[in-house]
Amino acid sequence: MDNLTATPAPVPDLLDLDLADCEALVAALGFKVFHGRNLFKWLHKHGVIDLDAMTDLPKRLRETLAKQAVLRLPRIIHSRPSADGTVKWVMELDDGQRIETVYIPEDGRSTLCVSSQVGCALDCAFCATARQGFNRNLRVGEIIAQVWHATRQLGAAPSNVVMMGMGEPLANFEAVVKAMAVMQNDLAYNLSRHRVTLSTSGIVPNIYRLRDVSDVALAVSLHAPNNALRDQLVPINRKYPLEELIPACRAYVAADQRRKITWEYVMLNGINDSLQHAKQLIRLLEGTPSKLNLIPFNPFPDSGFTTTPPERLEAFRQRLMGSGLLVFTRKTRGDEIAAACGQLVGRVEDRTRRGVRPVAVTLPTPQRAPDANPGWPT
Ligand code: SAH
Repeated sequence: MDNLTATPAPVPDLLDLDLADCEALVAALGFKVFHGRNLFKWLHKHGVIDLDAMTDLPKRLRETLAKQAVLRLPRIIHSRPSADGTVKWVMELDDGQRIETVYIPEDGRSTLCVSSQVGCALDCAFCATARQGFNRNLRVGEIIAQVWHATRQLGAAPSNVVMMGMGEPLANFEAVVKAMAVMQNDLAYNLSRHRVTLSTSGIVPNIYRLRDVSDVALAVSLHAPNNALRDQLVPINRKYPLEELIPACRAYVAADQRRKITWEYVMLNGINDSLQHAKQLIRLLEGTPSKLNLIPFNPFPDSGFTTTPPERLEAFRQRLMGSGLLVFTRKTRGDEIAAACGQLVGRVEDRTRRGVRPVAVTLPTPQRAPDANPGWPT
């Protein structure tokens, strides 16, 4: 009976394929494996998506691929440059959903901020993407297309990629890992492991999975030094609290002495920015190789938050640095084109029916039972 209902094997999209997939596809079509390598190089190293222009592939292979594969490249529908050199691209996918990708030039390097999902399901209190709800995961090809387009637009591959655009990359694990491997491949974008960073809000089991299959740098959106506050700001904390998150992060960097976790900490005025919070943060991160990025809160309509004033931010930073922590304040970039952290919105047909609702963070009302481990600040 099964074969009556079986759907035919899906037609492969060439942008969804990593090097091994390209080789396997070409072999399955009856051609020599090395043509798969060349196909992969044409697509990513040379940025060529027109099969006819891939002159060193046998003509018959090109004809077969034209019939038996597709290539769906998202369209850039807006390109918004900002006065500080930041560029935001809005890309439309083949189902009409829109995502955003941001390019941030800095002295001596250039960073591409790449989206992993259409919208986001995690609902962090201070993030504009969260307000849009969630539609779907991006395919490998839709993730890598962001790097493809940026490379073509800029004339060179960005020196760094951060998986810090729309979405939670560890909630789209397989596609993100595969896309990052393409970014790192020397026949494609040739980014070293230090130059690809995945940022997560803390999906603990997938931090361990990532450690086993990838070697990219890990950034974690911390934003609060105790569970009571983090439960409210980053709701995934209710599922994976700090006493699980911190050991997972330690395990991630354990294999290499030189590695550090980058902690992201958005500065929310009067919410998470007191010297008491700084003290808790120091205690929390003790023993974990860490680098801390303080991010001024980037406003968006009806967010309900304001950013910590500069003097207060500096006092917070000094308190942390006094303990020997490595602390940086992230410069806000691309703010006037709504391209800064947490301002990416695209166009998302929400499937979570969350809708737009006002946000209220009531503080500080610890809502959990005391942690089993008294060593963790709560
Ligand atoms: N979901 C992943 C990837 C997004 S990265 C993660 O949470 O890490 C985007 C970063 O910007 C995260 O650290 C996020 O917490 C932060 N951010 C979100 N909204 C922000 C805002 N309005 N201002 C400043 N930073 C924000």
